Amino acid sequence: MAVTDIHAHFIPADMIVAARDGSGPSGLSVEADDGTELLVHREGYRYPISPVFHDPSARLAAMDQLGIDAAVVSASPTIYFYWLDPGPGAALAQRTNDALARHVEAAPSRLAGLATLPMQDPQAAAAELERAVGVLGMVGAAIGPVVGERPLDDPRFTVVFETAQALDVPLLLHPYYVGLRPGLPDFYLTNLVGNPLETTVSVSRLILSGMLDRLPGLRLALVHAGGFTPYQVGRLDHGWEVRPESKGCLAPPSSYLRRFVYDTLTHSPAALAYLVGLVGADRVAFGTDMPFDMMDGSLDAQLGGTQLAPDDREMVASGTAEAWFRTTFTTGERAALPRSVEV
Ligand SMILES: [Zn+2]
Repeated sequence: MAVTDIHAHFIPADMIVAARDGSGPSGLSVEADDGTELLVHREGYRYPISPVFHDPSARLAAMDQLGIDAAVVSASPTIYFYWLDPGPGAALAQRTNDALARHVEAAPSRLAGLATLPMQDPQAAAAELERAVGVLGMVGAAIGPVVGERPLDDPRFTVVFETAQALDVPLLLHPYYVGLRPGLPDFYLTNLVGNPLETTVSVSRLILSGMLDRLPGLRLALVHAGGFTPYQVGRLDHGWEVRPESKGCLAPPSSYLRRFVYDTLTHSPAALAYLVGLVGADRVAFGTDMPFDMMDGSLDAQLGGTQLAPDDREMVASGTAEAWFRTTFTTGERAALPRSVEV
C-alpha cells in the first residue's frame, strides 16, 4: 500500500541564504540558538531551519523514516508574504515556485509540487497558477484561507478559483498568519486554535456565500482536518434553517462537506475516525505537516486506534490523494490536463 503525504512544506535554500545575510524578504532573518539556526519572521515567529525544507535528499530520508512513499510539497505558509506590493509579491512567488519545481524534480516519482500564488493580486495569482501547472508541472496550489483582511469569497478572488477549476487542479487552503492574534496571544493559541479557526471561518464563508454553488467544479483541500468545521457543521445547518442571513447557499451547509478533501492532522484517533465517518474515506488524505514541530506521525501512528476498515485505510493512505490530484504519485503519472485557459 502506497502512502502519500499531502501536507509537507518547502522553503527555498536561497531564501534562507538571503535571510542569513540580512537581505531576506519582508525582514526574514536567521538567528542562532544554542547551535541551532532559527528562521525568524518579522512578527516574531521562529522555528528551526530543518534541511527537509530545501534539501530533497533530507526530505526523502525523513519520508523513509515515516514510511511515506510520496509527498505533495507546498511552500511553507510562513513565506506567502501576501502583504508585499503586487509586483515584488508576484516576482517572489515565481522564484519560490521555480525553486520548488527544481526540488520536486530531484525525485519525480516521490515528490509533486503545489504552487504558492501572489493572492494580493488575483490576476497575477491566476496567471501564476497557469504557469505553475502548465510549465512547471505542479499539481495545484496552496493559498491562505483568507488574504490579509479579505475573505476568499470576495469576488476579486473568483478569477483564481475559475482558473483552478478550468485547469482541473485543487487548491489547498492553509492558514499562514504567524503573529499574535487578538484574543489568542498566550499559550501558542495563535496556532493551536487560531489556525483551525481561520480554516473554519473560510470554509463556512465559501459555503454560506454561495461561492461553491457558483463554482461546481472547484476542488479544495483543507489542512488540520478542516479545522473545527466537521464538528460544528450541524450548527451551520441549523443557522441555514432558521436565520435569513445564513441562506446564501442552495442546500444545507453539511451537504457541501464532500466538496473538500481533509488531511488527517487531528492528533486524535477519535476525531479522525469521526471525520472519516462524516465525510467518507475518499475525502480524507494522509498529511503530516513535515517538518514543523506541529507535525503528526506515520500513517500507522495516525490511524492507530481509528479502527478503519482496510479499504478505508488504503483510501486515506493514498487513494484519496491520487483521485483529488489526478496523479499516481509513485509513478509520477498524471491524468491528461485540459488545455491552457485564458485568464
Ligand atoms: Zn502546514
